[in-house]
Amino acid sequence: MEKCPVCKGEIKLGFTTFTVDLEETIIVIRKVKAQVCDQCGESWIDDSTSLLIEKIVEEAKKKHSQVEILTLTA
Ligand SMILES: [Zn+2]
Repeated sequence: MEKCPVCKGEIKLGFTTFTVDLEETIIVIRKVKAQVCDQCGESWIDDSTSLLIEKIVEEAKKKHSQVEILTLTA
């Protein structure tokens, strides 16, 4: 079992809410698959998930919306 580098707690597979705060836009992405620390709530996402988030951020920037809230289900 992996240990959290922050608090040495147990890291488990779960979901997190990912927030991106840009100058024009705030993007909130819910249900992002992540490794989450049981103890302090620190979370880590894998490369394919971060690529997906990058795409979402790019799309939101193009739309010039102020707030973008979405839920990942996959
Ligand atoms: Zn921790």
